[in-house]
Amino acid sequence: MIIIMKPGASDAQVKHVIERIEAAGLKTHVSRGDELTLIGCIGDEAKVERLNWSATPGVERAERITKPWKIASRQMHPAASVVDVQGVKIGGGRLTFLAGPCTVEGREMILKGAQVVKENGGQILRGGAFKPRTSPYDFQGLGEEGLKLLSEAGKKYGLPTVTEVRTLAHVPKACEHCDMLQIGARNMQNYDLLREVGQARKPVLLKRGFAATIKELLLAAEYILSAGNTQVVLCERGIRTYETATRFTFDVSAIPVLKEQTHLPVIFDPSHAAGKASLVPPLARAGVAAGADGLIVEVHHNPEEALCDGDQAILPKVFKALVVELKAIHGIIKQRSV
Ligand code: PEP
Ligand code: MN
Repeated sequence: MIIIMKPGASDAQVKHVIERIEAAGLKTHVSRGDELTLIGCIGDEAKVERLNWSATPGVERAERITKPWKIASRQMHPAASVVDVQGVKIGGGRLTFLAGPCTVEGREMILKGAQVVKENGGQILRGGAFKPRTSPYDFQGLGEEGLKLLSEAGKKYGLPTVTEVRTLAHVPKACEHCDMLQIGARNMQNYDLLREVGQARKPVLLKRGFAATIKELLLAAEYILSAGNTQVVLCERGIRTYETATRFTFDVSAIPVLKEQTHLPVIFDPSHAAGKASLVPPLARAGVAAGADGLIVEVHHNPEEALCDGDQAILPKVFKALVVELKAIHGIIKQRSV
């Protein structure tokens, strides 16, 4: 249920509505736009539906939120949300570039990686320290040491950092060193972890599970939002289909579908979808043309020697050209949507 306040409703009227909802045993989520204030009721809707809202001062009307994802829904928050990662914004008509190696492999390597990202138009540095590897025999990441190195590299080049957390214990460590927490595809439905990052005071990059529907992705986001963290960015990274020519199948349609259903920023990851460097630029063009707010892409200055995902890492010069091209595509998309 959302209570839509009249334009110009006073703070006291908004407060009164919140008190009525809370007295009925529900939580509230307030969304203040330039003109409209919406108050979401989170909990058993039947308890507030029977209250006489048309007689409540300052209230325009009450509406049922038809989707199971309440806080994430566009209905609750018609304007696009903007997530701020240490001054770098994602959403609201921008195109944001998150880039870097799959994994932090060592000090020199991540410093070089950060330099490449910074000098070629990247805005947020990615790098895994707690890697989710399919095989237990593969390089698992440098752990906390990797977080420290990522942070050092980000600071040196003025780039906020994003890194994956896999367990509850990783969250405080990543919060100490990094600026954005990534929930990887394999953990999209780890509900305890979602609740934990929901309580963290850092933006979250939530990647779609490769066997998850769009509805399940939105409900995973709802776990984080309902735990109190409104800084959530969604990421389409490819789903598993019968096709084996690519590592996963890039579900480009997820981008416009998500943009219709939610106000949260939507980015995509052409690297893990493609699994092959030559396919990354064409998929990236498609994602931007489909209306994404940004992308996260794996870049490595020496993919041959990379300890993880070398096949899909693009070279710095490819990244540089891609940034220019994607900005041009984004410019066209923006003109069309005005
Ligand atoms: C990653 O971004 O490092 C990663 C492992 O991606 P995903 O969770 O999408 O597989
Ligand atoms: Mn990777």
